[in-house]
Amino acid sequence: MDVDVLIVGGGVSGLSAAWWLAQRGVAAELWERAPTLGGVVGTRRVGGYAMESGASLMLNFRPEVTAFIEQSGLAPEKLALRSDAPRFVVQRGMLAQVPTRLGSQAFTPFWSGCGRLRLLAEPLIPRGGDEAETASAFVTRRLGCEALEKVFEPMLASTFGCDPDLAQARAVLPRLTALEQRFGSIAVGVLVRKLRRQAAPAMEMFSFKGGMQSLIDALARNPGVSVRTECTAAVLVREPDGWAALACTREGERRLRARHVVLSVPAMEAAELLDPNDPELAALIGGLEYAPLAVVHLGFERAAIEHRLDGMGFLVPRAEARALLGCQWSAGVLAERAPGGRVLLSAFLGGARAPQIAQWDEAAIAGAALDQLTALLGLRDAPETTQVVRHTRGLPLYHGNRLRRVRDVRERLRRWPGLHIAANYLDGVSTRDRIVSGYAVAGEICSQLLAASGGAAARARARAPRAAPT
Ligand SMILES: Cc1cc2nc3c(=O)[nH]c(=O)nc-3n(C[C@H](O)[C@H](O)[C@H](O)COP(=O)(O)OP(=O)(O)OC[C@H]3O[C@@H](n4cnc5c(N)ncnc54)[C@H](O)[C@@H]3O)c2cc1C
Repeated sequence: MDVDVLIVGGGVSGLSAAWWLAQRGVAAELWERAPTLGGVVGTRRVGGYAMESGASLMLNFRPEVTAFIEQSGLAPEKLALRSDAPRFVVQRGMLAQVPTRLGSQAFTPFWSGCGRLRLLAEPLIPRGGDEAETASAFVTRRLGCEALEKVFEPMLASTFGCDPDLAQARAVLPRLTALEQRFGSIAVGVLVRKLRRQAAPAMEMFSFKGGMQSLIDALARNPGVSVRTECTAAVLVREPDGWAALACTREGERRLRARHVVLSVPAMEAAELLDPNDPELAALIGGLEYAPLAVVHLGFERAAIEHRLDGMGFLVPRAEARALLGCQWSAGVLAERAPGGRVLLSAFLGGARAPQIAQWDEAAIAGAALDQLTALLGLRDAPETTQVVRHTRGLPLYHGNRLRRVRDVRERLRRWPGLHIAANYLDGVSTRDRIVSGYAVAGEICSQLLAASGGAAARARARAPRAAPT
């Protein structure tokens, strides 16, 4: 056997699996098709602006991520955003501030009288909903349709790229659905936890001084892993004691035999590799849908924007009938994403709401973003820089009964010892979930290596990494 673990895909998922394996002293090789690591995540510097190609912020409440940030030396790089920073949504063509404090919901003009009463009635709504309930049905049932249309729909459309009428509530709102299951009500659940001093783990939102590229660089600073870029996995075959893989590289073919393989590539690429071994598993994965996404970065002189640009950006509800999902601006701790006296606006378009953007060219996408931002933010001048990043398959859609599909995939994987999947179509799209998934897969592999060898050396390898979550 050439190596204990082969990881295919060098995005956050694959890099995290590699990082956690290295913490346990397990030898791994990672193959990445592109010339650089990071997948959809990366920061490009253009004329003094720092432009994110994909993820721009991390929202964390998981101890695995906290442990990774501390152990990798990323902590001093963190730029934490104020949790009480104003947030906006578009209402009838204008930006309206979202009330974030629980106590202020009863008085804010953000909600109509009926909408407010419906929110306050949440504890009286009986427990309900089955596993297949959609996010829209869940939010409307518990909090009313105003909460769905003004807050939850734009939030889900931008973070998951999904349509909440089709997305499974338990897959995209796991914390809220769990509160209902356990306490019968979201508000009662929050209150009981407060009274029992079982506060939910603190939620932190942050980026890094070097942008999200710092995350990729920290994950890649990993002497325990042999990384090969421009190395495209083309064939994967099961052998009696492991897996044989073949990749196409600039130098020719590369062959490798590994005890374990971690697939951290998008669903379609995973299906192609799996099809010769298990067409049923390949069909389960290959049938997953993705939504296209585009990010339009626009650099402006600060004086060219009328809006006061407090907070960090805004989201756009579907009722506003816009391809624009939302926009972030460089302000506060993120001000250093733009040179002095300038501001970077980063607009997000597409998702399940506007999949047609996949057919638009870059000029059309940038034009649509600029049109809508001009009216919303009062742009007085043309941008000095425009960059468009297109993701044809931006985010996997958590539509339909996702949890059943995930169970089916995991069930099927049991037939293939040594085969693992750590990817955003299975267990969470956020970079946080990708790091947690890498942690879980590394733990699984270490336990299996330990069970297979039974030796002391393997026992040492399977030691949990320092500061691992309990
Ligand atoms: C526009 C956008 C904005 C986002 N914003 C946020 C955000 O603010 N916060 C957040 O937490 N998350 C955000 N996300 C989600 C998050 O960034 C992604 O879900 C996550 O980074 C996906 O990581 P991954 O490693 O699973 O997949 P990918 O990043 O897609 O990586 C897969 C890798 O596999 C490689 N590959 C494919 N085929 C092969 C092959 N045959 N052989 C070798 N390599 C192969 C690809 O080149 C790629 O590098 C955003 C996503 C997008 C698209």
